[in-house]
Amino acid sequence: MMTKQTMRDIDVTGKRIFVRVDFNVPLTDALEIADDTRIRSALPTIRNLIERGGRVILASHLGRPKGKVTESMRLKPVADRLSELLGVEVDYAHECRGPDAQNAVAALRDGGVLLLENLRFHSEEEKNEPEFASQLASLADIYVNDAFGTAHRAHASTEGITHYLPSVAGLLMEKELSALGGLLESPGRPFACVFGGAKISDKVGMIRNMLQRVDIVFVGGGLAATFLKARGLDVGHSLVEDDMLDDARDIMRESERCGVPVLLPVDALVAAEVRAGVRTWVVQSTSVPANHGIVDIGPKTIEHFFARLESCKTVMWNGPMGVYEIAQFSLGTRCLINYLASLDVTSVIGGGSTVDAVQEMGLADLVTHVSTGGGATLELLEKGTLPGVEALNDLE
Ligand code: ADP
Ligand code: MG
Repeated sequence: MMTKQTMRDIDVTGKRIFVRVDFNVPLTDALEIADDTRIRSALPTIRNLIERGGRVILASHLGRPKGKVTESMRLKPVADRLSELLGVEVDYAHECRGPDAQNAVAALRDGGVLLLENLRFHSEEEKNEPEFASQLASLADIYVNDAFGTAHRAHASTEGITHYLPSVAGLLMEKELSALGGLLESPGRPFACVFGGAKISDKVGMIRNMLQRVDIVFVGGGLAATFLKARGLDVGHSLVEDDMLDDARDIMRESERCGVPVLLPVDALVAAEVRAGVRTWVVQSTSVPANHGIVDIGPKTIEHFFARLESCKTVMWNGPMGVYEIAQFSLGTRCLINYLASLDVTSVIGGGSTVDAVQEMGLADLVTHVSTGGGATLELLEKGTLPGVEALNDLE
């Protein structure tokens, strides 16, 4: 996986460097940044390039402007926050290409930083139009991709541009690729995967691929209901994807064929409605009442999972164990986070909700790697590579 060149392998002094970052931060109605994690994640790359005298040209998308200039999706608030975090003035161009962008780039000095306007104000970005990609490329001498979270999309700024410039990975990209690549290529064993979350359809590709690589799989969350139903159990009105039952059966057959156990919950927390304040019961997975649905894994399941996780050397976890947004239904997820944090294992956590849950609990530092990628993380674990990664220069 780390067969790709990184920005550490090249000379950047005095060079114009187009850095694709992921500054797709949540904004409040007052256009303030609600969470600047994504900006902070890019700081090591930016600081490194500044220190080495590069001329840093940052580009990102924000929101879904669908190819139109949208005032509420300008990157100005991001430029301001980035200036504060870096402690240096960040220039901001009102365009990402054309004369405005060219002039702003021309004004950059060694060690200077410029943020271009939202790439998705142009529909050519998502369409990966070569003309647009070449306009972006014309601003720079080198391309650095540090937007791991967008690397599963072949867009002009993630793939197209690499046809025109020497293209290397940024430090965040490198960190993600070595952590996730490590899982795929040389995990410490036993290696366990824990899957949860809402829908099996989002994850079936990843589950299939990981099943070939791990020693044991645990399933919780909404996914578990589909697996339980596929085993012939009645799961009441739990979240079930009926069109995925065959896939679930197929995965269980494959599990038997390759001798990798897929452990399902033996008990569950159930409720008549998914709403705070409702009454809940713990029931065995074999006796979910018809008018109830599963909202979390049960205490015996937690015990079983922990007993088998204890001896593992590597754990990859994606997907909350229950509807953790409601405190009453969050015990399974919270216990699992705490337990992983307490183990002496290589632990990798990925997926938007899962990472949110870990961060909310303030335990992110106790996990070996918290992947920032969301969909990109899952796709990398499914396919072993991403278009935005493939497009980078190979190591010589
Ligand atoms: P991630 O973003 O980490 O990949 P997902 O998006 O797949 O995770 O799933 C997160 C969602 O799954 C959460 O909103 C959570 O409420 C929901 N979820 C977890 N367990 C259940 C369940 N038993 N029934 C319904 N929804 C669930
Ligand atoms: Mg999600």
